[in-house]
Amino acid sequence: MSYFPRSVADELGRRDSSISAAHPIAIGLVGVGKIAKDQHLPALATNPAFQLAATASRHGGVAGLASFPDIERMIAGTPRLDAVSLCAPPSARASMARAAISAGLAVMLEKPPGVTVSETIDLMASARRKSVTLFASWHSREAPAVEPARQWLQQRRVTAVRVSWLEDVRIWHPGQEWIWQAGGFGVFDPGVNALSILTHILPGNLVLTAATLSYPRNRDTPIEAQLTMAYDHRATVELAFNFRYAGAPRWDIEIETTDGAIALTHGGAKLYILGTAIPLPASAEYARLYARFASLIRAGQSEVDFAPLQLVADAFLCGRRIEVEPFSY
Ligand code: NAP
Repeated sequence: MSYFPRSVADELGRRDSSISAAHPIAIGLVGVGKIAKDQHLPALATNPAFQLAATASRHGGVAGLASFPDIERMIAGTPRLDAVSLCAPPSARASMARAAISAGLAVMLEKPPGVTVSETIDLMASARRKSVTLFASWHSREAPAVEPARQWLQQRRVTAVRVSWLEDVRIWHPGQEWIWQAGGFGVFDPGVNALSILTHILPGNLVLTAATLSYPRNRDTPIEAQLTMAYDHRATVELAFNFRYAGAPRWDIEIETTDGAIALTHGGAKLYILGTAIPLPASAEYARLYARFASLIRAGQSEVDFAPLQLVADAFLCGRRIEVEPFSY
């Protein structure tokens, strides 16, 4: 996909000689919360390319490991640190990333890479100046249906796309107040996962043309969003994101082409081509992300694609605002 400005797969100009291939990469984990415990710690525990050296979190840590209340003290207090993985919510992450980049550490960002596009561009520039690896991860792109879907779509003419990203916020984001604060993304926190898949598997351009955003009266971020996009000036893309969806979540993308339809369901864990279920390996999104981070570090490269974030920003720019009933947990 030639979306502009899209991705930067940067050669850093030099490899950081302190990160030798002979040793595991000493990594610090920042923001020990839901996703760190659910995914990052298990993925790091099974990847010999990394050695978890320390954590930085105000309230949590990992038993038997050096724990610091913030990233600055972790950097100052850890004898050897090559990289950090930042798992805090987006509004807290840019300052953490700047601290790590200034210290010459490789940085992996949870999704989305920033609260704003400009903040993300600034991080890319800082990483390039310091010749350190910056990896903006999009875990949903590592779902097993994504690569076969991308390949199938390469030579096909898309005629329509429907995205349904529907879940119950009380189940999937219990007590997460940050998601409702400005910069917390609201329903775009999961919705950007759909956009990360879509921008990756479609070979052409997506242009956001309309958005309706529903805000609870007592909150700063939307609980529901209806988006319309044009794909390659021809096909219409309709997206529904909803945080008030009771029951089993729906994380589905359906794409019609002149050769028939393809559907990625369960967030990309399942794939149907022309109505037939395609056998796929089990999901290993975070194992794949850390393998990618290790290879970027070893190769002296960065990878940042803010196309999904750009589409969220566009929705906020042109979205019509509707006020709905207040939300509380
Ligand atoms: P979370 O559990 O609410 O937050 C992670 C940790 O970050 C918290 O436990 C907290 O640790 C720290 N933190 C929270 N607010 C902070 C602040 N203002 N300043 C500094 N640290 C802060 O959130 P999460 O669900 O793990 O999500 C974090 C990121 O991962 C988000 O960008 C999200 O989109 C992404 N993600 C989440 C999921 C998921 O299923 N939840 C899945 C994929 C990706 P301390 O209080 O100990 O500092």
